[in-house]
Amino acid sequence: MAETKESAEPPTILVDPIDMSKLDQSFCNEIKSMPYGEELVACFACTTCTAACPIANQWDYKPHQLIRMIILGMREEVLSSKEIWECLTCFQCQERCPQKVRVTDIFFDCKNLAAEEGKVPNSIVALGKLLLETGQLYEVTEDWQREDLDLEPEVPGLATEPLKEILKTTRTGRLVGSDE
Ligand code: SF4
Ligand code: SF4
Repeated sequence: MAETKESAEPPTILVDPIDMSKLDQSFCNEIKSMPYGEELVACFACTTCTAACPIANQWDYKPHQLIRMIILGMREEVLSSKEIWECLTCFQCQERCPQKVRVTDIFFDCKNLAAEEGKVPNSIVALGKLLLETGQLYEVTEDWQREDLDLEPEVPGLATEPLKEILKTTRTGRLVGSDE
């Protein structure tokens, strides 16, 4: 019978263990107390949300991991993560969660908390400013481009002023316009 060769090397650790001393136990309660956070702690880590997510394979932290991180109190890691901002808000995870955890809504809550702390990626701030300045997320093409496409020079009926006024009074308006 062939002998099993024991390695003298210690096993490779692929991720750093969680530093329990840095956990913020209040984070879970904070999210839980938000309008859609009630079912948060019902999560039993089945990973259905991650299986349903069309973008999870691009993420370092998968949806089920983010939910677990919130429960554990990994406030800093969650609120600084790129994943909460890259979420497509497609609700696939939330629709399929057997425990009715409102995964997408919880990620919205995380974004709101991150924004209050100024942890917003520059690309999102730029989009917010554009929305505030133009009333649109996508700029209407220049006149010459519209002409090439045989379109009228101005978009018919486009009225963004009322929207811009409303946006100024919103939290988004305050956050992205705070340096003006
Ligand atoms: S699908 Fe629901 S219960 Fe399963 S891991 Fe995701 S949040 Fe938790
Ligand atoms: S809402 Fe976000 S986290 Fe949920 S499945 Fe869609 S992209 Fe993934």
